[in-house]
Amino acid sequence: MAIFDQDAEQMDREELAQMQLERLQATLTRVYKNVKFYKKKFDALGFLPEDCQSLEDLARLPFTTRHDLARAYPYEMFAVPLREVVRIHSSTGSPGHPIVMGYTSRDLRHWAKLAGRILTAAGVDRDDVVQVTLSYSLLTSAFGIHYGVELLGASVIPSGPGFTNRQIQVMRDYRTTVLVSTPSYALVLADEMEALGVDPKDLHLKLALLAGEPWTEAMRAEIENRLFCAALDHYALSEAMGPGVAGECAAHPLPGMHLSEDHFLPQVIDPATGELLPAGELGELVITTLTREATPLVRFRTGDLVRLFYEPCPCGRTLARLSRIQGRCDEVVIVKGTNIFPTRVGQILRAIKGEEPAYQLVVGREGHLDYLEVRIEVREELFFDKMTKQREMLQEIAHQLAQGIGVQPRVKLVEPGSLNRAQETSPLVIDLRQGVC
Ligand SMILES: [Zn+2]
Repeated sequence: MAIFDQDAEQMDREELAQMQLERLQATLTRVYKNVKFYKKKFDALGFLPEDCQSLEDLARLPFTTRHDLARAYPYEMFAVPLREVVRIHSSTGSPGHPIVMGYTSRDLRHWAKLAGRILTAAGVDRDDVVQVTLSYSLLTSAFGIHYGVELLGASVIPSGPGFTNRQIQVMRDYRTTVLVSTPSYALVLADEMEALGVDPKDLHLKLALLAGEPWTEAMRAEIENRLFCAALDHYALSEAMGPGVAGECAAHPLPGMHLSEDHFLPQVIDPATGELLPAGELGELVITTLTREATPLVRFRTGDLVRLFYEPCPCGRTLARLSRIQGRCDEVVIVKGTNIFPTRVGQILRAIKGEEPAYQLVVGREGHLDYLEVRIEVREELFFDKMTKQREMLQEIAHQLAQGIGVQPRVKLVEPGSLNRAQETSPLVIDLRQGVC
């Protein structure tokens, strides 16, 4: 099996640790000099970048959270002047403000190369035709993979999301060999193929490269059976870069996705105490970027619950393996590949109605598609005699929420007092997607 960057992906682990330390020292110096947020944090601890003499010293530094990044909107976390930034992405759904990520030319080159590693590890080569059904938008979703495919010299079809019927036509006529999508959309495609009488065995698909939402081994088996191709997992973290952070090797002889540790330094912590956990233990993934120029991150809490494995992999890569994402440990809920902060829903409702009604998010799965239902308690101002006016108001709320969180919700009014959140009898989020974590 081919390896995209043998020097890096098969590096001796002691050599890797030395490289990580040098890159970490450079990153700490850069953020201390250029990002007020970090200067303040380091100064408060009496910590200077040169105090970092070993990788263990990193644990002395505080975490960076999504709230910190949102508060820095739009450019406060940028470590380079805007004229050096050649790309800007942002995430939706964070509280208050989106999170803005910048990329220098060098950042983009790294991004393409790291996506190239993931694609090569998954078995993609220059003879492949890769159909990318992820979103081409402010989100990072499709971009890293897109440039990785081009870098490998394979053909990329930027079909973007939706238009399922047309996706299948393209897949058949253009002889797509690799599908890049969310796991649930892969199953939507399988459903549509059945409805259209298209036999996946008559297509040329050999691989579905999937990410963007929690999924299970059972889903993998179903996708592999129904699309008649292999299904592999990869890890995208938009705040750190986007897709290309970690990915499974083709035969996945051992569980987990190889993490590009020469660019991203991982730690796994107990989410309750912040203490470091030993290798193999389940905890929250914390990432420090080692090469990002525009928006470097020090100890970023991802909210993703994972395990890290360091045993050598038969594929020959020495990079650690990140387990399938086992769940989330912050307040973020992922629907259709979009991170949603439930408190953001409250803010939007407050903006519409002047004060915040009691509300609840219910996330479920119908067929293979996730849905989001927002339940709102009926109150004086939400209760109209005329049903038509109430319907208009619900449509307006749904529209405003879709604009603000990036996912179209169903909005449902419920009886006064039924949510009763003040007494904590009703959780803010109910996730009905059994077994997704
Ligand atoms: Zn491997």
